[in-house]
Amino acid sequence: MTRQQQAVTAARDYRAANAAAIVCSLAELVALPNISRDLVAVRRNATALRSAFAARGVTLDLVEIDGAAPVLTGRIPAPKANRRIGIYVHYDGQPADPAQWRSHPFEPTLYTAAIEHGGRPRPLPADSEEVEPEWRLYGRAAADDKAPFIALLAALDALQHAGIEPSSEVVLLFEGEEEIGSPHLSAYLRQLRDRLDAEAWLICDGPVHQSRRPQVIFGVRGLVSLELTVYGPLHELHSGHYGNWAPNPAHSLARLLASMKDDDGTVLVEGFYDSTVPQGDAERAALEQLPRIDDELRHALGLAATEAGNELLAERLLLPSLNVRGLAAAGVGDAARNVVPATAQASIDIRLAAGNDPEAMLNLVTEHIRGRGFHVVGDDPDERTRRTHPRIVKVTREPGYPAVRTPLDVPIAADVLAAAEAAAGEAVISLPTLGGSVPLHSFTEVLGVPLLVVPMANHDNNQHAANENLRLANLWYGINLMAALLTMP
Ligand SMILES: [Zn+2]
Repeated sequence: MTRQQQAVTAARDYRAANAAAIVCSLAELVALPNISRDLVAVRRNATALRSAFAARGVTLDLVEIDGAAPVLTGRIPAPKANRRIGIYVHYDGQPADPAQWRSHPFEPTLYTAAIEHGGRPRPLPADSEEVEPEWRLYGRAAADDKAPFIALLAALDALQHAGIEPSSEVVLLFEGEEEIGSPHLSAYLRQLRDRLDAEAWLICDGPVHQSRRPQVIFGVRGLVSLELTVYGPLHELHSGHYGNWAPNPAHSLARLLASMKDDDGTVLVEGFYDSTVPQGDAERAALEQLPRIDDELRHALGLAATEAGNELLAERLLLPSLNVRGLAAAGVGDAARNVVPATAQASIDIRLAAGNDPEAMLNLVTEHIRGRGFHVVGDDPDERTRRTHPRIVKVTREPGYPAVRTPLDVPIAADVLAAAEAAAGEAVISLPTLGGSVPLHSFTEVLGVPLLVVPMANHDNNQHAANENLRLANLWYGINLMAALLTMP
């Protein structure tokens, strides 16, 4: 048996003997309110985590930039380690409105199954009571993202109990502002760069695959957005007296938007796809292996067809997208009036793929708009400007951040996948990119090492919504995973 296999066995045995205590320790951590903007509450979480790790001989420094939630950083000592990896977890959570929750978000409650599948609340287990893997602990941040802390602590206990030494030294970084966009992460990484000297960073966050199979994710999409306002007459006009004469900004905006994308979903902005890093052989092979979920998704969503001739969702996520996220001009339905609107607005988000520079992508779209004969302004145009230019659009850019994509064949990838497989006892999915956007680029930009996302939570955890929950089987996997990562060959 390899040390890793011994470690996973030890994790399983330890968990079987201590399941009730492990669930209660998660409940205790979830009971601490942790909404990102509540600095006092967030700091309390940091202190609790520091004590929990100190009790296992892991000293964490609390580092604080003025006005920001602190980060915790330190190392899990491993005197004979043959490698050094980084583990990142965040301890803050999304806001939670108790009125929308079945049980209070910060009074963690154990249910016998998912609520929507008839799960009933039950007391936390007493010592040595049997604990079912399908039970779920409900509470804010149970899944996103407090589960990895408990998994790591339990794995440390299990290894210590079995007398197994870690073979990976682990650098820890725990953040308290992830749910508000990590505004100080870059600054913290810069400040702590010398101490964060891992060969790769493992981001412990997010869900496993919808099929419940574990996955390792090699990237996230980036994001930029822009607001467009097209101008008509200085004020709304009666459509009987002036329709057919006064240009209508809604039509004008509709034509502009239509020019950006063809009927099949291909973006027509010149150069839009040019900077995207093409898929390599390893990515193509990974896409081949993904469980086929597209038909089921189309069915569930009531979609007769999807873009690009039903091309796979996982492939579409590797390209940048241009999405109209909202439209407005005068009123519709009960609010409809017979007017020529004075303005029309569209809100657009652009998801970025690997290689896309956020500013450059916004420039391409702006150039496209100019190419359609619009006079582009950055502020509301004055009357003189409106009298001079027949077609005016105000473009307001919201700066964003780039994507991250780690090549699937970086040396550490095989070891992390092997660790996840040892932990899960089944094949693990390699997902080239997460659909969502997460500002992880600062890790690769500042630290210059590869980054992999190693999730453990169930996909149906209601992340960010009411009734967030963690399925205990996923916590059990997480404990095995941490034990396997600590003992990578
Ligand atoms: Zn999260």
